[in-house]
Amino acid sequence: MSVNKTRRIFLQSTAVSGLAVCNWKIKDSDAQIHSSSLSSAVDNYINTRKVLLYECTRKEIRERLASGKLKAAIIPTGATEQHNEHMAMIMDTAGALLVSQYAALKLYPQVIVTTPVSIGYSPYWMERQGTLTLRKETLQAVVYDICCSIKTHGIKTILILNGHGGNVKPLLDKVPDFRSKLGINIEFCSYWDFISPDLAKSFMESGKVPGHGSEFETSLALAAFPERIHQVSYEGIDPYKWNVDKTDLDRVGFYKATFDKTEFDKTSFEESKLATAEKGERAIALAIEEVVEKLRKMIG
Ligand SMILES: [Zn+2]
Repeated sequence: MSVNKTRRIFLQSTAVSGLAVCNWKIKDSDAQIHSSSLSSAVDNYINTRKVLLYECTRKEIRERLASGKLKAAIIPTGATEQHNEHMAMIMDTAGALLVSQYAALKLYPQVIVTTPVSIGYSPYWMERQGTLTLRKETLQAVVYDICCSIKTHGIKTILILNGHGGNVKPLLDKVPDFRSKLGINIEFCSYWDFISPDLAKSFMESGKVPGHGSEFETSLALAAFPERIHQVSYEGIDPYKWNVDKTDLDRVGFYKATFDKTEFDKTSFEESKLATAEKGERAIALAIEEVVEKLRKMIG
């Protein structure tokens, strides 16, 4: 089997595929990927399930905590929101979970990944049908309660690893507050934070990170969960002709996106055609490398 195919099969076997778990085990030599950091994502047959808190039994978690080896948790935060005509709405959650799971595998057994927060702050997409949103306060409260739960079990280092642009401000605003209330080490970042514009331009044509359903995210999905990409054309599409109930929109804190929705969607859709699985693999490897580095520093 070719190196590229092996790598892609491993990516697709991780939990992000349908938030389910594959029992595949893989060893380094099977996933040899030249200089890519993905090659060392796993060491010697680690079951990919073992880094996901929600797939572990209480016995497994209890024993890891008692051993003192489990030192940190990642809370992946994402969204369920429209990603143009061609991508599944779970993209942002799946992206955050993918990077979280890989980073935890690289640091096994020190890091566990919590159940992802799969609905985020997306009120500005509510005119695109299908999007779900939490109010800002609800999102902040959910993430805070998860941090409290983790601290209760004795884990004092938490990285909130985000995959959705709309969550950035609501969560960044609150992290200092979470930290001082709980008295533990809590940090927040988005998985693309470490990909600078120059770096992005070195392997992507548009250079836009993360964009929205365009070259970056579509590439990532092609590499890790291609079943979430559905090829369509933009011809004759007008997705905005439906009767929006303004009262209901107000209840979720709707506000109009500042950009022109039709033009934005068309441009993003055109840019998505630049996507390749190879670009996605590069982006994923860069993100994992930096998240691992950040966690190493946090754990100390
Ligand atoms: Zn997205």
